[in-house]
Formats: sequence, C-alpha cells, structure tokens
Amino acid sequence: MTPRARKKPERTPLLEVSAIDVFYGPIQALRGVSLALGEGERVALLGANGAGKTTTLRTISGLVKAAEGEVRLGGESISRLTPAQVVEQGVAQLPEGRELFMGLSVEENLRAGFWTRRHSDLSFKQQRDRVMDLFPILRERSGQQAGTLSGGEQQMLGVARALMSNPRVLIVDELSMGLAPQIVAQLFEILREVNELGTTVLIVEQFVHMALANTDRAYVLAKGEVVLEGSSADLLADPALIASYLGEADQPVEASANGKTRKPARARARKA
Ligand code: ATP
Repeated sequence: MTPRARKKPERTPLLEVSAIDVFYGPIQALRGVSLALGEGERVALLGANGAGKTTTLRTISGLVKAAEGEVRLGGESISRLTPAQVVEQGVAQLPEGRELFMGLSVEENLRAGFWTRRHSDLSFKQQRDRVMDLFPILRERSGQQAGTLSGGEQQMLGVARALMSNPRVLIVDELSMGLAPQIVAQLFEILREVNELGTTVLIVEQFVHMALANTDRAYVLAKGEVVLEGSSADLLADPALIASYLGEADQPVEASANGKTRKPARARARKA
C-alpha cells in the first residue's frame, strides 16, 4: 500500500483487535489478526470462504475467546467479557443468518434488542422511535410476525434490533445474505445513515465491490491472517489486486499494460 493508503486512525482506535490467535480444538482459525477502527469509521472485513471473517467478529463479540491477543474498546480490554457485557459496553452484532425471533412481532424483536444495551436515558419507546425513523417500513409492520416479513425487511429488523442496544460499534456479518442486489444497496444506504448518526460500522460482506464502495477502509483475510489492508477507494481502483485475494468472478479483472495481471506486492507490506 502507498503510505497514504496504509494510514491508521490517528487517535486511540475505538475498537482494536490486537494480534489474536483463535483455535477450534486443534484447528487454528486466526493467526495474529489485528484490526483498528477509528471512531465514526466504516470498515469492511473481506476474504474467501473459511478465511476467518466470522471467527474475527465472534471474537470481538465475546462469543469465541482468543488464545492470544486482545480486543479493546476505547482502550479498555473487552476480551474477558461475556457476550452480553460486550453489548453493554457498546458493541452490537447482527449475526450471519439474522437470528430473529420469527414467531414474535417486529415490536417484540425490538424489545428483545433493548433488553441488553449500553446505558442511555432513553426509554424503550424513545429508542424504538429513534430506530424506526431509519426504517419506516418496520414502523408500518410493527405488529407483524417477523417470520412473515420479506428477506429484506427481516434484515432491516436485524439491523434495527442491534441498534436498539444503543451501540458505539455495529458489526454486521453478511448484510447481503440471500438478498437481491437492489435490496442490499438499500441496506447499505441505511448503514450509511446509521454511520452518519455517529455509529462506527464493521462489516463482513461477500459482495466485495459493494462493500468497498460503502466503506472507508478494508482488511482482507486469507487462511486466518490479515494479508491486505488499505483505503476502500484504493482497493476498488485495483481490481487485479482484489481478484488475486478474493477471486471475485462477477467483476472484470483488468490486465496491466503488458497484458499481465499485477502481482499483489502491496499485500506483503502488511506483514513487514
Ligand atoms: P464463511 O464466509 O464461509 O463464513 P469465514 O471467513 O467467516 O467463512 P470462519 O467461519 O471464521 O470463516 O472459519 C474460519 C475457519 O475456522 C475455517 O477453516 C472453518 O472451517 C473453521 N471453523 C469455523 N467455525 C468452526 C467450529 N465451530 N469448529 C471448528 N472449526 C471451525
């Protein structure tokens, strides 16, 4: 990466993952993974299937414990907290697959999201109204069972439920899961608004180009290691680099002037 592209947040990062190793029994899923999110940033975590993206998110959320390394929020370690305590500190995750209460109404799902939350003086109704302002369709559907919503509406409810906990950092695993591209674009637009209202966003996404177009910076994981990091705009401008790490088949890979695709030399700089 160019010095500009590799620039790190200047102040103490809001969320910092520092050299974590994670094992599932004998299998090492993460090797020395480090990430840093500045307050108000939107950051993408990319990588092929099995690269370790979900494991990284689950470690931040306290669902998985790291054997080595640390996760810090605002400079304080949150590595030993339970998942509920991590939410109370201000980190909310929309898990892959949403995990809504399908038999409960929209309103009841939002109430479940409010149960564990970062302290604020807002009542349930005040927080709900604030969140509903971002999702007018959910306001219309507030009495409807979650299981009867469309896929896009369910994903909106998942994001809305996570926002009910008043997070400083919103983590989203696979926003696009099973949804049509125009619905995904709409959801990214909502995340942009959430971010503009002050929430830091970390997102894992299969639609690499959409993720890069909607974030400030990105990290790429391969086989449990961060192999590339940089500004999303720079990565977006280098399709050969993206293809070499993510092998995205639905986007054209531009050859360089001599007809060869460029080697990912910048990626090695991450480990130096
Ligand atoms: P995907 O996009 O397919 O979800 P990912 O990048 O999120 O992939 P992870 O789900 O974090 O990757 O998996 C990282 C590695 O850890 C993989 O090799 C996976 O097989 C392994 N793994 C994940 N969960 C478990 C588990 N519960 N037990 C054993 N191994 C696991």
